[in-house]
Amino acid sequence: MKATTGIRARRLFDGHRWREGPALILIENGIIGDIDFSGARCPEGIEYIDLGESAVLPGLVDAHAHLTWAPQGDPQNLATDTDEILLGRARRHADQALRSGVTTIRDLGDRGYATVSLQQEYRHGAVGPQLLTSGPPLTRTGGHCWYLGGEADTSPALTAAVDEHARRGVDWIKIMATGGFRTQGTNPWSAQYTREQLTAVVDTAHGWGLPVTAHAHATAGIAAAVAAGVDGLEHCTFVGEDGAVLEPRIVESIVQQDIWCGITIARPRDGLPVQTLSILEKKWGNVRALMAAGARIAFSTDAGINSAKPHDTLPRDLVYLTSQGFSPLEVLTAATADAAASCGIGTRKGRIAPGYDADLLAVPGTCKYSLEPLLEITEIFRAGRAVTRLH
Ligand SMILES: [Zn+2]
Repeated sequence: MKATTGIRARRLFDGHRWREGPALILIENGIIGDIDFSGARCPEGIEYIDLGESAVLPGLVDAHAHLTWAPQGDPQNLATDTDEILLGRARRHADQALRSGVTTIRDLGDRGYATVSLQQEYRHGAVGPQLLTSGPPLTRTGGHCWYLGGEADTSPALTAAVDEHARRGVDWIKIMATGGFRTQGTNPWSAQYTREQLTAVVDTAHGWGLPVTAHAHATAGIAAAVAAGVDGLEHCTFVGEDGAVLEPRIVESIVQQDIWCGITIARPRDGLPVQTLSILEKKWGNVRALMAAGARIAFSTDAGINSAKPHDTLPRDLVYLTSQGFSPLEVLTAATADAAASCGIGTRKGRIAPGYDADLLAVPGTCKYSLEPLLEITEIFRAGRAVTRLH
């Protein structure tokens, strides 16, 4: 393979571990080729970018975002926004995320398949992050996020909805297995579907080659989704009458079935209801216990759902996690290599290794002992091209 670009840095994080350099990453057609640690000169005649004392990391992967949502807006307005408004918002938010260092986004709930339209724009040459889509999440009539248009109540209706999503070209099926915190009239403490209904969704989706991830706060909903054989669980909060308490037998099944736990990062803050705050305070201990049990964890944002979650929030959220008992290495891995694997693209994204897409970040110094440098990203490369120079 003949390289067209060489990027030199002091050290790199390859998605799993740190490697001291000098490192020379050779890129051909947007894909990483060789990585040289010998200190050899960059081959003649190719573009050479010397990042000096910087560290290079894989681009961040946000495994759970909502690009069509306005963080400051009322989500119920989504029900009446035009396709043009939805697409324009998704385009802007994807760009905002990319410029914060997020080079891959899995959208887990749009309306009108706006993110599928945006994905088409990228396929036809527009510049943006790698995008994975789910279209409107499946939910009960009047259930969590009903205003996104994915209402289906029975197994036949759910099966037909999955078929429609597949025909529209989504990458994932997202289903609201429980109520949520953001929809009036729904309850995160209760399941929205039976195990049989969820099984109908999983079987139909898998028939199309599509994986399924389930929004699941309530323990009863998590149990039903796990029994149905979902591929991922979003939030994975384990809320019941006694607060957020892990159920060991369900955790065991999650581990045995290799189900990804997509942990959305929430920061406790003034103004949240007491009930929500008490759950958040238990959240990180529960995540630690899931990890100790062997569950696979990815960290993500849920960007867009409220004013505390703008679309460039991921770097700041990751810094916050290191104040909650997670090491910089754990956090970085869960937001790069593991986040990519949780989205089913672990062989192309989230690592710096030969054959991977050259989606890269440069930060000053090192992120080994503190993730603060993530707030001062100096370069972002998408498929080997500097984002700052793309427009
Ligand atoms: Zn969400």
